[in-house]
Amino acid sequence: MLPLAEAREYVLAGCAPGHPRAVPLGDALGLVTSVDLDAAEPVPPFDNTAMDGFAVRAADTAGASDETPVSLAIAGTLAAGAAPEVAVEPGQAVRIMTGAPMPPGADAVVMVERTTVDDSGATVGVHVTVEPGNHVRRAGDDVRAGERVFPAGTPLEAAHLGVLASVGVRRVPVHPRPRVGVVSTGDELVDGPEALGPGQIRDSNRRMLLALVERVDCTPVDLGRIPDDEAAIAAAFEEGARSCDAVISSGGVSMGDFDYVKVVLDRLGDMRWMQVAIRPAKPLAFGTIDGTPVFGLPGNPVSSLVSFELFARPGLRRMLGHAVLDRPRLLGVTERDLRRRPDGKVHFVRVTARYEDGGFRVRPTGGQGSHQLAATAAANALVVLPDGDGVAAGDAVEVLPLGDVGTLT
Ligand code: AMP
Ligand code: MG
Repeated sequence: MLPLAEAREYVLAGCAPGHPRAVPLGDALGLVTSVDLDAAEPVPPFDNTAMDGFAVRAADTAGASDETPVSLAIAGTLAAGAAPEVAVEPGQAVRIMTGAPMPPGADAVVMVERTTVDDSGATVGVHVTVEPGNHVRRAGDDVRAGERVFPAGTPLEAAHLGVLASVGVRRVPVHPRPRVGVVSTGDELVDGPEALGPGQIRDSNRRMLLALVERVDCTPVDLGRIPDDEAAIAAAFEEGARSCDAVISSGGVSMGDFDYVKVVLDRLGDMRWMQVAIRPAKPLAFGTIDGTPVFGLPGNPVSSLVSFELFARPGLRRMLGHAVLDRPRLLGVTERDLRRRPDGKVHFVRVTARYEDGGFRVRPTGGQGSHQLAATAAANALVVLPDGDGVAAGDAVEVLPLGDVGTLT
């Protein structure tokens, strides 16, 4: 059996980042920048007010307090989006709304809560002494013109897209989003709503794997279900390798499998058939057809999911250009005994992990068979159990989240 780390390295070596291309900002969520990005414009583009209130000359507010307010003549009003029309002369103030540009002459803003406007609306009493710069947001104090906003290799999340929009970027050079074909194999599989015949089961893996592909920020491509027919299997993999950047199949990779997946993949591509020292998800095929990575995942649904997490997800993240390929592994404490037998494999136990008193507490979710997908759906993490006899309640365990760490509640 192959150690997990070796199998993972083998897979990653076959997954290269895609050739950079500029994509519209609206298509860039989750993609990774391929070049350093410099700002062509400053943000904010001009000095403006952080508060609703009055733009003043700070010197005019000297000595102002609740007991001795200073009275200033109101010279005008400035809303956000308006250009200043009047300057603030000594003894004057301009009513101003958050985001409006500072009018010439003014060097500070008094928040509206510290002012009182007289009944005529002609003058404002200022109840506080302010320093120059008070509540003023300077041009460029978020991003300076010419500043490096993001280095190459930055994964673009929502705030990154907001920053790029703020400096006027419309298209961003990235490693493109891989199109990932998903195909299921097996004569027993039924796709539609029809009643099951003898020996038939419904295809759960394809729906799940397409969703997992989407969660990794790749584009899922449904390549359908292939019957156990040599020509059909060949046609599906050839089509997948031609039209997609990677292909993921489920089923037909176990030892002693009756179907033709192995025969066909060995003919079409350069495949390695592995027995990885893990449970579930021991069998794994990985290789390339005409340079396109092909992941042959095991058919048992839980094995498919675990295999995707351990091999396909990091491989696809590498294709996306990420430097961080794996989820963080966390330290937890198990609330139950997690017993196992020594068998040379690392076991992955489906658990719920919740954050409590500064740490993660984990509990198995039920049936641990590799066909028991419902117990996996109830889980939000896997406990990594090294070879041996397992652990007892209260022991420290390594926890591998199955989603964002924020979902471990
Ligand atoms: P295999 O890896 O093809 O030997 O399949 C292992 C087990 O997984 C068998 O019980 C299959 O019926 C089951 N299986 C294979 N593909 C799927 C699928 N797409 N959905 C649900 N179960 C599957
Ligand atoms: Mg099969």
